[in-house]
Amino acid sequence: MYCKFCGKEIEEQDQFCPYCGREQTEPLSARINHSGRKWTELKVPNDTKNPGVAASLGFFLGWFFLGPIGYVYLEQWNWFWLTFIIQLFAVPLTFGIAWIIIPVLLAFHQYQQAHQINKLVLARREKQLGGEEHPEQDQQD
Ligand SMILES: [Zn+2]
Repeated sequence: MYCKFCGKEIEEQDQFCPYCGREQTEPLSARINHSGRKWTELKVPNDTKNPGVAASLGFFLGWFFLGPIGYVYLEQWNWFWLTFIIQLFAVPLTFGIAWIIIPVLLAFHQYQQAHQINKLVLARREKQLGGEEHPEQDQQD
């Protein structure tokens, strides 16, 4: 982003401009948006995930335990806690109807998320391979 006062490029999280020292106030809506994105941001695990496994975990275990179990498999703890908390409120508020609907919704979302995660994992692997293109430097000693 750019400083509102001097127009120089500064870091997104800078509260004060390092060039002119003036405070960068962020509108409340932007702040909420930021923290919201932090919560829903995908973590990139080491390995690709099977979308079918994610969805089945979310769906079948959802009936017995809790819908968010699929997120544990996907290593998305922020999503696990977010949906866990939503569920805590949603189930009593809907007199249990959420108990039927939530596992279906979560399974669907977990399936989609597994696809997204795999894309991110593969993109990161390609990046790493790209960075290791010149490994033969210290081989002849
Ligand atoms: Zn400035």
